[in-house]
Amino acid sequence: MTSPNASPSAPIPDRYEPAAVEERWYPEWEKRGYFRADPESTKPPYCIVIPPPNVTGSLHVGHALDNTLQDILIRTKRMDGFNALWQPGTDHAGIATQVVVERQLAAEGKTKNDIGREAFLARVWAWKEDAGGTIIRQLKKLGASADWSRLRFTMDEGLSRAVREVFVRLYDEGLIYRDDYIVNWCPRCQTVLSDLEVEREERDAEFVYIKYGPLTLGTVRPETKLGDTGLAVHPGDVRYAQYVGQTLDIPSVQGTISVKVVADEAVDPEFGTGVIKVTPGHDPVDFEIGRRHGLPVRTVIGFDGKMTAAAGKYAGMDRFECRKKIVEDMQALGLIDHIEPYRHAVGLCYRCKTVVEPLVSKQWYVNVKPLADVALAAAHDGRITIVPSGWTNTYDQWMQNIRPWCISRQLWWGHRIPAWYCDTDGSVHVSRTDLAACPKCGGALRQDPDVLDTWFSSGLWPFSTLGWPDDTPELRTFYPTSVLVTGFDIIFFWVARMAMLGLHFMKAEPFRHVYIHALIRDAEGQKMSKSKGNVVDPLAIMSKYGTDAFRFTLAAFAAQGRDIRISDERVEGYRNFANKLWNAARLVLSNLEGYDPAGDTGAAGLPGRWIESRLHASIHDVRAALEAYRFNDAAGAIYQFLWNDFCDWYLEIAKNALYRAEDPAERQRVQHTLVTVLEATLRLLHPFMPFITEELWQRLPHDGESIMVAAYPKASRTGPDAEAERQMGALIQAVTVIRNIRGEMRISPAQTLTAVVKAAAAEAPLLRAHAGLIETLARARVTIDPAATRPRASALGVAGNSEIYVELEGLVDLGAERQRLEKEIKRAADAIAFTRGKLARPDFTERAPAEIVDKEREKLAEQEALHAKLVASLSWVG
Ligand SMILES: [Zn+2]
Ligand SMILES: [Zn+2]
Repeated sequence: MTSPNASPSAPIPDRYEPAAVEERWYPEWEKRGYFRADPESTKPPYCIVIPPPNVTGSLHVGHALDNTLQDILIRTKRMDGFNALWQPGTDHAGIATQVVVERQLAAEGKTKNDIGREAFLARVWAWKEDAGGTIIRQLKKLGASADWSRLRFTMDEGLSRAVREVFVRLYDEGLIYRDDYIVNWCPRCQTVLSDLEVEREERDAEFVYIKYGPLTLGTVRPETKLGDTGLAVHPGDVRYAQYVGQTLDIPSVQGTISVKVVADEAVDPEFGTGVIKVTPGHDPVDFEIGRRHGLPVRTVIGFDGKMTAAAGKYAGMDRFECRKKIVEDMQALGLIDHIEPYRHAVGLCYRCKTVVEPLVSKQWYVNVKPLADVALAAAHDGRITIVPSGWTNTYDQWMQNIRPWCISRQLWWGHRIPAWYCDTDGSVHVSRTDLAACPKCGGALRQDPDVLDTWFSSGLWPFSTLGWPDDTPELRTFYPTSVLVTGFDIIFFWVARMAMLGLHFMKAEPFRHVYIHALIRDAEGQKMSKSKGNVVDPLAIMSKYGTDAFRFTLAAFAAQGRDIRISDERVEGYRNFANKLWNAARLVLSNLEGYDPAGDTGAAGLPGRWIESRLHASIHDVRAALEAYRFNDAAGAIYQFLWNDFCDWYLEIAKNALYRAEDPAERQRVQHTLVTVLEATLRLLHPFMPFITEELWQRLPHDGESIMVAAYPKASRTGPDAEAERQMGALIQAVTVIRNIRGEMRISPAQTLTAVVKAAAAEAPLLRAHAGLIETLARARVTIDPAATRPRASALGVAGNSEIYVELEGLVDLGAERQRLEKEIKRAADAIAFTRGKLARPDFTERAPAEIVDKEREKLAEQEALHAKLVASLSWVG
């Protein structure tokens, strides 16, 4: 099979036009079914489940990185003979999606309550069908070879069934329960937030010291005083021992109140006065103290963030207004001892940045402790390996300190909690199927209005997407999955939960490896943000530089444990790489006249053996790097080989050999080396740059229908050849020395040089045998003479144990050149002195950012190297 629209016999365009190639190949691959996995295949399985992007989302650089790395892995394994499944899907993203549709309604002057739950959900589904596919189209643009025929959605029928099954089983096992508990509440979003969804921000506040009868205590939240039901001190605090157990009648803003004094380990005797007020209704620590000592809960702030009726004369007031007012009132009554400025961390809703209000309410919980213990063990006995390994500590710490997981959310969009309440007899029924009547009394039922935390469904992702709770061929073939690729920011939210739920329900780990990639920053190392205006739009980058260049950039900078800095210049650099490859392929294709696919007569001389050996080493390096998730090393190995070894050296050598070759057999050998090495290199590069490699591969002589389904290279034709590498290394060094002298003496590239090589005895035969090659590549007449003496007015270079003299007489105006060099030496010396002076100033080295100082040091090293080079050159013309 050939290129779908362009015949391979059509001449290759002069320039690489990424858009045309990308638009042609992606649909073709998809049409031919290359992305599809087959659960019945006998090949070894390899599976990655995509971290499901929010259905509301559009592609940002983080997605682009995450999915490029997954695509590199899946394409490599697919080519390498694995039955590769990249399982795609999207997440319903409870709150994010609900907010989008609520905003639409607001624009129409309506709220969700105006239209009711059913109509609202119909709107959300309609929105999802209409706009929810954006991110999938963008992932295709990125070249993602996921099995789209298996696209899942966390709210689809099968996954919803899995969610219910898990809920019911955990409930039956006693691991899901309902409890009054203090939760993080967002009064703006009207929902509970998990601890992970609360952001901490340092803010200035006032620490108000309030007189409580004989005691004084400090608080940053005086408005919660209205909900106080106790005072607490540390059990060992002798200052207050006499009060413990007493109930004190204390004058307050609304007459006298009674509070019990308790002793509790949670109180820090060093903090403030060592006495705290206990407000079980509005503080998580106080809630626990209250539970331990049987103190009642008094709710004075409501779910709307306003003071409740229990707040008496403050009822209806906003909680922050009430704070001001109550301080004024206490001051008037002489109840305030003093006020200090205070800086502390305030909890904010991660979505809308409203100050979170701790509130007591009835919620559903998972007792995750028993699940966490199993997940912890799996990461310790090697069933789950986290790369880089440093993240294992983060995972451990969270698992060890895990608290009950509040899974109910006060939203409409999501998996509705499968619990029904009977108001007649007070019974609660949890069920896999919807219930119409009370199984106990036959009376009417009310389904819990809340939905489950989004992470409850995405926590099942590795097995729910493969068909669980049914026993499917997909589950049997692809679970446990091979690797999960994700960012560190969702280790807790997602990775840990998948580990716990997968181990619990499948009795096996959900993934063998977890690869945690770094964060993408801008070129200056700054975090990208809309307000800074430094956000890189992956779609804009792809259309400007081509998808392959963008993908290669992401891989090339994905070093473990280091942030990835991205900029236009960097992507531009890899666009140049794509162009270099394109031009190299054009050169090969234009030199295939007389090529006979069956006419391979074996390795083509020293350069041929050398390039095959270099290719072999590169294949080895790329494979080893990919196995260890060192994407940058893999990309670097291909880049070095293709740019330096193949393009800069071998292609140059081969071109000259073809122009000169009179022996048709020699011509065939060189053509075969060019074709086989380039073809294998394209296959090696394909997972990184899928589009350009397919386009070029189709134009080269090849076996098979697409590079996507060709074999990933295992070895070059002739394998490693240490002798060829050593010999070519010596020749390359000699050529480089002569080229450098030409450059430093500013001699025109058109000018043929005269060089004498005073070769060491051991090197002379090699250099003599390949003098022609050196002459061609260095554009010089070369004499190999172990007994040579240095001619007058010649430049000297050293290559291995040989000295190379390049004659300058007649090529360079020695006097003028000497003057120029002396001037440049002076300039270089001045620059060195300036930089040294700067680095010697403590105010610079201590105050400037480390990066700037490092740059200055690098600059100094470069200036010193330049100075040494100029001084050496001066001796040539002297
Ligand atoms: Zn909020
Ligand atoms: Zn009933």
